[in-house]
Amino acid sequence: NEKLLEVKNLRTSFFTHVGEVKAIGGVSFELDKGEAIGIVGESGSGKSVTSLSIMRLLQYPGKIVEGEVIFKEQDLVKKSDKEMQTIRGNEIAMIFQDPMTSLNPVYTIGDQIMEAIRRHQGLSKAEAKKKAIEMLRLVGIPSPEKRVDNYPHEFSGGMRQRAMIAIALSCEPSLLIADEPTTALDVTIQAQILELMKDLKEKINTSIMLITHDLGVVADVCSRIIVMYGGLIMEEGKTEDIFYNPKHPYTMGLLKSIPRLDLGGKKRLVPIEGSPPDLLKPPKGCPFAARCPYAMRVCIEQRPEYTFVSENHRAACWLLHEDAPHVEVETGVVR
Ligand code: SF4
Ligand code: MG
Repeated sequence: NEKLLEVKNLRTSFFTHVGEVKAIGGVSFELDKGEAIGIVGESGSGKSVTSLSIMRLLQYPGKIVEGEVIFKEQDLVKKSDKEMQTIRGNEIAMIFQDPMTSLNPVYTIGDQIMEAIRRHQGLSKAEAKKKAIEMLRLVGIPSPEKRVDNYPHEFSGGMRQRAMIAIALSCEPSLLIADEPTTALDVTIQAQILELMKDLKEKINTSIMLITHDLGVVADVCSRIIVMYGGLIMEEGKTEDIFYNPKHPYTMGLLKSIPRLDLGGKKRLVPIEGSPPDLLKPPKGCPFAARCPYAMRVCIEQRPEYTFVSENHRAACWLLHEDAPHVEVETGVVR
């Protein structure tokens, strides 16, 4: 498997007037070519800041303080803003939660796809339009020959998100970062968009980083999952490890909070009590200690290292330490 991206010990802070908010406290992970990875956590866990750091789209007063983002053997942290613009247009594309904020209301959908295509492929206007229609067809827009001349407001929410994906993919990026791409959509459309992403991954071999607060969303699309909390990776593993053999109490909590549509509409939602840590004063020990039902004294005093459960499965929790007391841990899988 060929490596596409390697994030090494990334630390990102926001330098606010009240002090340094340590949004990302040292995050490392890898992504292979053609692979889809899910980054999951509640809001404030650092998942969006991780993607914005990779894209170098952090807004003031955010700053990468340490670490490397090796993309195709080059460190993006060291690139100039101009070089990053080129990389973002050609190599890495991003889609967000609300397509209305990223689509330009005064241009037709076709114009916006064509702009992206022409900028990167130097095609004539007629050729670009043909390609735009092809892209709309690829993402499942009905009658694309007509729809290409529509304005964003003439599209439904689900169609706008499809159009956003078409624009993002029209430069044929090696990496697509999707931050909560389906959160604003209803359940049926959400499933369709996820199906589309899965489909596109097979068709064009783009690597995908899917960022979401909802573990249920990543299961079908991603082969690997990273669970973040308090600006750190709590657990990383293959999708089946995370779902059926979770090792971190936070992952277990997230699993219990997934709405269970298969239980006849009776959602089995067990929210995790409490709120995320204040990253202006990050906790000395485990960031989850204040909310963890299994917290021990050591958890508050010292940050747990990663324990490798298997080669591709790691978690940062004192319960996995060889000297930890044995506790009956209730995993999140409700059967
Ligand atoms: Fe809970 Fe301690 Fe594990 Fe943190 S290290 S998740 S507080 S048991
Ligand atoms: Mg976010």
